[in-house]
Amino acid sequence: AIHVWNLHKKFGALEVLKGVSLTAKDGDVVAMIGGSGSGKSTFLRCINFLENPTSGVIRINGEDVKMISDGEGGQYPANRRQIERIRSRLGMVFQNFNLWQHMTLIQNVIEVPVHVLGMKRDEAMAIGEQLLERVGLSAKRDVYPAYLSGGQQQRGAIARALAIQPRVMLFDEPTSALDPELVGEVLKVIGDLAKEGRTMLLVTHEMKFAREVASHVMYLHNGIVEEEGPPEELFGSPKSERLKQFIRTVS
Ligand code: ATP
Ligand code: MG
Repeated sequence: AIHVWNLHKKFGALEVLKGVSLTAKDGDVVAMIGGSGSGKSTFLRCINFLENPTSGVIRINGEDVKMISDGEGGQYPANRRQIERIRSRLGMVFQNFNLWQHMTLIQNVIEVPVHVLGMKRDEAMAIGEQLLERVGLSAKRDVYPAYLSGGQQQRGAIARALAIQPRVMLFDEPTSALDPELVGEVLKVIGDLAKEGRTMLLVTHEMKFAREVASHVMYLHNGIVEEEGPPEELFGSPKSERLKQFIRTVS
């Protein structure tokens, strides 16, 4: 589960997040939509502490992240160990397939379990092979990423994220860099995870998909949640003019 209260993020004078709150209980699929530059990626990066939020409270899997003031209006995590522990339970998949190029697919999948989480190699292999099978890549286990299609690489990245047995999955526009004909195979994998009851936070511009899989949708505009609600309401009867227009332009 993830709870965020009143998250603010500034880059210098630029305030990118202006008080964003979010609740994703276990099993929830929260979709975040919004125009380019609205702060979606920044929000996900703050949750994973790839960026330090300027202020706000983040609770992940029941644990409040302890922050210390930097004396200049910002803050940073008080305890790196806590951040490492929290990260080890978050699976993140980015827009650009970020498999390690110098490792085969199976090596990519077992790397963190073995070298960071201390899992036995045999066990990690067994889990990794199962995961590759789930995402339809068993035949590619010994192949380097350069020899995979974009859709295959992204499915591989999902298998790698799942290998740490995350409690929450974070997706940042996982299909936006794909050729159109490859989008479906990746959405299928993510949709199956959603149906399984995995907790996930999904930034996407695939409105039809968000409508199908999300339990809750948030529309971000200019660093503020302009409107949110169940997908039927948000897409079916949007209230804000801006959201209405956004839905018209992206669908
Ligand atoms: P997109 O749909 O294009 O991915 P987004 O909603 O994910 O957009 P962000 O990437 O979160 O938007 O960016 C929000 C704003 O923050 C943008 O104006 C961007 O230029 C700015 N920004 C993001 N990262 C940084 C950074 N490290 N330093 C300075 N400004 C940044
Ligand atoms: Mg983004």
